[in-house]
Amino acid sequence: MKRANEAIETARDFIRTVDNPASKTRLQAQIRKYGEILGRCTPGKPITAAQYLAGEWKGATDHFVVCSSGEARSILAEATPLLPLLIPAELNTQVERLQLDRYLTILETRPTLDVHDFDAEGDLVVPERLESRYATALFRDESRGPINLLNLRGYKQNPTPSCLAGLEAYTILDAIQEESENGKAPERLLSDLSECARFQLCGNRGAFHLEHIDHHGTLTTTFSDDGEKLWPGWPGLRLEDILEWAQSGELPAGPCVGIYLGPGYLLVQPQAYLHAPLSLTDVLMTGTMHWDSRAMLKVMRLSKMEIQHPHITNEAPAKEFLGKINQIRTLWTQGHPAWPWGSEDELRQFSELVEWFSEGCTCETRCGKGCKCKGNESSCDGRCHPGKSCQNT
Ligand SMILES: [Zn+2]
Ligand SMILES: [Zn+2]
Repeated sequence: MKRANEAIETARDFIRTVDNPASKTRLQAQIRKYGEILGRCTPGKPITAAQYLAGEWKGATDHFVVCSSGEARSILAEATPLLPLLIPAELNTQVERLQLDRYLTILETRPTLDVHDFDAEGDLVVPERLESRYATALFRDESRGPINLLNLRGYKQNPTPSCLAGLEAYTILDAIQEESENGKAPERLLSDLSECARFQLCGNRGAFHLEHIDHHGTLTTTFSDDGEKLWPGWPGLRLEDILEWAQSGELPAGPCVGIYLGPGYLLVQPQAYLHAPLSLTDVLMTGTMHWDSRAMLKVMRLSKMEIQHPHITNEAPAKEFLGKINQIRTLWTQGHPAWPWGSEDELRQFSELVEWFSEGCTCETRCGKGCKCKGNESSCDGRCHPGKSCQNT
């Protein structure tokens, strides 16, 4: 517990030193809010895999599981997890780690990178696309404020943690091919599901994210290759708690637990895990995103919530989403043996939500005469032509 306590103190010190009440930048507003998160953060109560499996988890709690890769695998095989699973380096069978400096050298060979610059004035939410050699130079420059390099396409060849590798239920996001109407390969976006199923991220010391959930109800794993993170989050929140947070803009009343992630640590975040990570040092992480084929109804409920409250996640709706869920509906209806599925009742509710998602318009350029939304005198939302700017709002 000592490490988590120290990490929370280090983060608080950092926020205190950068807090400048005279500044009116967006960053300043975010620092205030992040300070509020840290103010509530405690090290929480770690439990064993056996305690987790014997317990019932039905709401906000300060418990999280600390276990080995093998124990995490048993939990994940049984059902989709409800609490975060932390596998510290000494219990992790996954040992291959990429060094940050080596990785920056690789990044230099890419044409451009998306940079979140904490020194920039104005809107922090929108990253800036910079030439890679310039972006990596900013990252290495210790005399300026922190930057985050996000949405980096996966570099590691086998990033899936050993606790998940080969567990059938968790392969569906990656394996399912979306249907396309005209037989052509569908267009992809950077934020798209197949692109982010494996990712790398780099953050300078002090870079942070306000609380958010990962998009489309994914279970996300994050492995620290190099460096240290504090990972505040709210274990055990139910969908209604997430909705209340989305509507009110207030932090949830439940406990905020600061999990420490050192080099070689792996965190498995359950679906809709509200989290707000901060880099304690310059850091390189490898992540993977998964759907659990047994928990697809919750994927749909969360995806609907994202359309209705777009600020709850830091990514736009994925273009491939509708194609993938349509394909999943077909296979689930057949009870196809490729994946384990949820109940009949869940399938019925899942199908209704697929219908709801299909209501968006499919206009190619501007929403004009033939637009379904305009015809119904309604505004376009995230269900319509994702990735294209729209005037019909
Ligand atoms: Zn339209
Ligand atoms: Zn529309």
